[in-house]
Formats: sequence, C-alpha cells, structure tokens
Amino acid sequence: MATAKAPREARPAPAAWDGGWHRRARVQASPHFGPRPDHAQIDLIVIHSISLPPGVYGGQAVHDLFMNRLDWDAHPYFQSIRGLQVSAHFFITRRGALWQFVDCDQRAWHAGRSAYRGRSECNDDSVGIELEGLEGQRFTASQYRTLARLCADLGQRYPIAHVAGHEHIAPGRKGDPGAGFDWQRLQGLLGWPAKRFPQHAGSH
Ligand SMILES: [Zn+2]
Repeated sequence: MATAKAPREARPAPAAWDGGWHRRARVQASPHFGPRPDHAQIDLIVIHSISLPPGVYGGQAVHDLFMNRLDWDAHPYFQSIRGLQVSAHFFITRRGALWQFVDCDQRAWHAGRSAYRGRSECNDDSVGIELEGLEGQRFTASQYRTLARLCADLGQRYPIAHVAGHEHIAPGRKGDPGAGFDWQRLQGLLGWPAKRFPQHAGSH
C-alpha cells in the first residue's frame, strides 16, 4: 500500500548555523582569534559597545580594527589604540546589520582580563558581541532586534546560561556597554529568566 504523503507541517526555520558561523551574518574573517581550551563550556554572552572614532557611526574603522588593517594614522584618536589586536565574534551596526568576524567555536579577543560566574579569562568560554555605539549612550531598536535574535540562536547552539556586559566581567577596568543599554528590554525580547542577566541590571 502506498504511503500517502502527509501534508507538510510548518517547516522548521532553516538552521541558523554553519558550524560556528551564523548563516545570516555578513562575514569578514578576522586573523585575531585562537583555539578555545579543550572542553570549554561556552555558556556566556558578553555585550560590548564600540565606535571608531568614538561616537562616529557607519564607517569601516571597527571592521578594519578587527581585520588588523586599521590605518593608525587616519585619525588622531587611533594613535591611542595603535597596535591593538582585538576582535569580537559579532558586530551589530546602528541599523541592525549583523557582521561576524570569528567562528564562535574559536576564541575571540574581546574580554581581556576578566572574570564572571566564578571563572576567569572569559575569552575562553564566551561569545563576544559588539554593538556599534558609545559607552553610556542608548542603542537602536534595530540593534535590540538583531541582538535578541542572535542571542536566541546562540542559545540553540551553546548552553548559554549568562549574558553580561564587558562592565560586569571587568568591573573598574571596562564600562561598556554602560547605562544606556537596556538589559530589561533584551531580557523581555528573549523571554529568558532574569537570573541569566546581570543582577544589578535595573530600570533605565
Ligand atoms: Zn568591551
């Protein structure tokens, strides 16, 4: 007896990931990365803010910094970061565009000296997301949408148990993303429990 084809249920969304690369991100593969330690438990998302020069949006300088091709002489501010070798897994522009620079299965260089949830060296076992912005200032609705979608997708691939700012994993040394970032808004978009977010993330 022939098996009738059942009508298709709603198709599941296409897999968001190709290995550690997000399928919907525009990719620029940074040379600034290395292997994660064996058996790293990637359970932390670290949120940052960055713009180069600070407060100037829409340019290529952040991309160039992560790609190790920033012209240090192109702006006086760049002198203060000359030679800096950093990266993040993701960068979200003011318009909500998603860029990926490092495979999430690899270790990006965004956290520096850091500790959180009882573990140090957060680069080892976190995913770093940079929001185009200025520390302390607000972020755009498009950025929250892209960020929430990305965090949800990360939660499908990794056992994400914590979301924190750079300011929370390197207190006193780093202050980004700062008071303009609305943790409750991100939590609401994700529908994740409050315990995954920084304890003092309050109202804004
Ligand atoms: Zn940062």
